[in-house]
Amino acid sequence: MSKNQNKTGTYSFFNCIEKNFDKAAQFLSIEKGLLEQIKACNSVYRMHFPVKIGKEIKVIEAYRVQHSHHKLPCKGGIRYSTKVNQDEVMTLAALMTYKCAIVDVPFGGAKGGIKIDPQIISPENIEKITRRYTSELIKKNFIGPGIDVPAPDYGTGEKEMSWILDTFLSLRSGDVDALACVTGKPVSQGGVRGRKEATGLGVFYGIRELCYTKEDMYSVGLDVGLVGKKIIIQGLGNVGYHAATFFHEAGAVIIALAEREGAIYNEKGLNVSKVFLHLRNTGSILNFPEARNIENTEKALELECDILIPAALENVIHKNNANRIKAKIIGEAANGPTTPEADDILEKKGIIIVPDIYLNAGGVTVSYFEWLKNLSHVRYGRMEKKFSENMNAEFLHVIETVCKKKISSEEKKIILRGPREIDLVRSGLEDTMINGFHKIRDLKKSSKIKNMRTAAFVLAINKIIDSYEKLGIFP
Ligand code: NAD
Repeated sequence: MSKNQNKTGTYSFFNCIEKNFDKAAQFLSIEKGLLEQIKACNSVYRMHFPVKIGKEIKVIEAYRVQHSHHKLPCKGGIRYSTKVNQDEVMTLAALMTYKCAIVDVPFGGAKGGIKIDPQIISPENIEKITRRYTSELIKKNFIGPGIDVPAPDYGTGEKEMSWILDTFLSLRSGDVDALACVTGKPVSQGGVRGRKEATGLGVFYGIRELCYTKEDMYSVGLDVGLVGKKIIIQGLGNVGYHAATFFHEAGAVIIALAEREGAIYNEKGLNVSKVFLHLRNTGSILNFPEARNIENTEKALELECDILIPAALENVIHKNNANRIKAKIIGEAANGPTTPEADDILEKKGIIIVPDIYLNAGGVTVSYFEWLKNLSHVRYGRMEKKFSENMNAEFLHVIETVCKKKISSEEKKIILRGPREIDLVRSGLEDTMINGFHKIRDLKKSSKIKNMRTAAFVLAINKIIDSYEKLGIFP
């Protein structure tokens, strides 16, 4: 039994991350105590609070974990699910620390969770629970623009973030930076354009970069490029839906989509927006007219495809199904979808795994842009849009004069346009994901590391050690 396994010989979710961390640590000569400090969760706040639901008082179990204070504020989403527990929140908080380090976002990792099923609780009661949770965080100084900044995760979205903000504003009136206490807000309440789709778009940019890396594609017997690649996505929520849409628009073929109640399959490809409309109208993806149903949703992961994207929950690829996975590439959009045992099996099969701590970092990257926007109190593009347009007009005038040729008004529109907030956010995200991919890949090659996950952990640990040293905390 390895030191990361518990008494029953299985890994807890937190043990899984420790195991990945320990694998990476073997490539570094760092003192054991320092590594232990990086791995440990700095603060765990477990709470119970009462909320009146109908005529009954319900006791709600909730958490906020700050994994690392090496950079402040801490940052990480809030999850609403009946499966929430301390081990899960601690693990997700740890993943946030490594993720932020990889994409150079200056936060420590954190995560929150409330043990409820948002699908069966009314919006009014979810609002009550969210507001009470926020006031508990405020009481214990676990939230604030410079302390800890939550964001959406599984089961939460813009609505919950706006309730968090409103509660914070009412209890901390006069804080000029209060808008920066939470990210993933609606644009009308200080959010940034492009946050909602950021994680899915980041997944798309990361996988696209891999698909255009000749050596890697040839190593798994695939052609370079995205067009025609057969993709399966598990989870059609925020991350899965947006990733599916971007892949579909880029010419990849989404052959299967899997949800809780079952999966749907069409070898020729599914129209993602039509499936989403069907889901909205019927409450299920099943019985979509242009697809065949797969009753056992887990079986969708085992279908023949080029790229498999788990975008729902953790531990869905495990030792019992890893041998049956036929994808050439696994893009971990969800947090922790692959167990360490499955990792070993998949590595032997030669499958490329693009790890969660890099691939789903688009959300926190754009959350960082939102936080900066809130602290600077100015919309992206406000200062430079008109200036760029005027400069572009001058350039165009010079070019037309020199070339003695007028360009069409349609072409003019494209050339003259200055950057809008959404353009700047998306280009910042694209640049971050491309850079992150190559940093991990270069490290993997230069250190002769076998897989991207270990290389990503090595990169993260190095960055964290760097910032500890800059703080002068360690000699
Ligand atoms: P979400 O709640 O919007 O969507 C999750 C989807 O998965 C839902 O549609 C749900 O019905 C589906 N699902 C649940 N169980 C399933 C199962 N057994 N099989 C198939 N589908 C199932 O959540 P999300 O925000 O899209 O998060 C998904 C994953 O991505 C989580 O692991 C989360 O931690 C991770 N993530 C999210 C963000 C973000 O910005 N939202 C950022 C980074 C990572």
